[in-house]
Amino acid sequence: MDAIVLHRDHDGPRRTTLPRPEPSTGEALVRTLRVGIDGTDYEVLNGGHGEFPEGQDHLVLGHEAVGVVVDANGTELTEGDVVAPTVRRPTPDGSGREYFERGEADMAPAGTYHERGIVGADGFMAEFFTSPARDLVRVPDRLAEYGFLVEPASISEKALEHAFASRSAFDWSLDSALVLGNGALGLLTLGMLVESVGVERAYCLGRRDRPDPTIDVVEELGATYVDSRTTPVPQIPRRYEPMDLVYEATGYARHGFETVEALAPSGVGALVGVPSPWEFEVDGGALHRDLVLSNKALVGTVNSNVSHFQGAIETLDALPDWLFDAIVTDVVPVDDFERAFTEDESTIKTAIEFSDT
Ligand code: NDP
Repeated sequence: MDAIVLHRDHDGPRRTTLPRPEPSTGEALVRTLRVGIDGTDYEVLNGGHGEFPEGQDHLVLGHEAVGVVVDANGTELTEGDVVAPTVRRPTPDGSGREYFERGEADMAPAGTYHERGIVGADGFMAEFFTSPARDLVRVPDRLAEYGFLVEPASISEKALEHAFASRSAFDWSLDSALVLGNGALGLLTLGMLVESVGVERAYCLGRRDRPDPTIDVVEELGATYVDSRTTPVPQIPRRYEPMDLVYEATGYARHGFETVEALAPSGVGALVGVPSPWEFEVDGGALHRDLVLSNKALVGTVNSNVSHFQGAIETLDALPDWLFDAIVTDVVPVDDFERAFTEDESTIKTAIEFSDT
């Protein structure tokens, strides 16, 4: 079968032929429909993140997938089910076992799990993949084409769940929200906040000039575009309004701290961006004081579990089709896979298509 892999020499994504996998007990065989590409894939390709599977000279790429069950192999799935796979899997030494047993692999500490297509386990960029049935989440037919967005949406589903949980001890209302970052994750989350959560006043921060397709998405959603070059995050409350929620998806390290300044009293910031180490000055006293005296909260979250996939499916189902079409700027047949790894100013998110429904 065709697969897109990264070799240990890190010379970019390559198409190769691999044997079709056989499902073990408890696993199903899935025919891949589409696999999305995100910033983590680029970090893996650049050698900045990830690990090759032990004893292999290559890693099958891809962690945002949707496919069709072709051999349910005695599991509770049915042939023809459209499914999206979760990403984390146990390591052979079982060090994260308790987290997997409780269905909370997303909370396992680094080093106690593999991540398919990222850390120590092959991903889904192949014509077929196998997976334990418990790690496959059914996707309704309406979402089959864009089912590879379930994984990124699940990241925000979890981040928002944790943020809302931190505000559940009192009467909190969410009227204003700011998304930092106009990448695919930021725009998808903005869509979720406006269309599904029902936030009245939404803002999205970027650093682009008009005309730009990401600004078009922000405005089409009825949200306000904020340019960080003219309005840095700490100035947002004065220029616009203080925010009940800030969702950070730039990976720009200063934003983690500046989020606190953008929040309204009792507000919460959810951080998902993954910055590289960077030392800079922060007024720690003012930050600490503001968090305490204004009852603010900051939560950082990574990855997601089956419950977040299920929530993401419901949330995506509430989003309008135009939003998927606008965020997914190219779906490339596997024969032309290299195009999916090239970006220009019109690119927001790409995916590789292995087969159709
Ligand atoms: P992208 O790189 O596509 O998007 C980041 C966006 O932020 C870009 O549009 C970029 O603008 C914008 N940006 C960066 N710095 C600034 C700034 N100073 N001011 C204004 N805008 C800025 O990434 P994704 O959308 O795919 O992901 C967002 C973040 O989430 C990444 O850090 C990623 O690693 C992380 N992530 C975290 C996960 C988790 O589980 N916690 C899971 C998946 C992703 P421009 O394009 O113009 O440069």
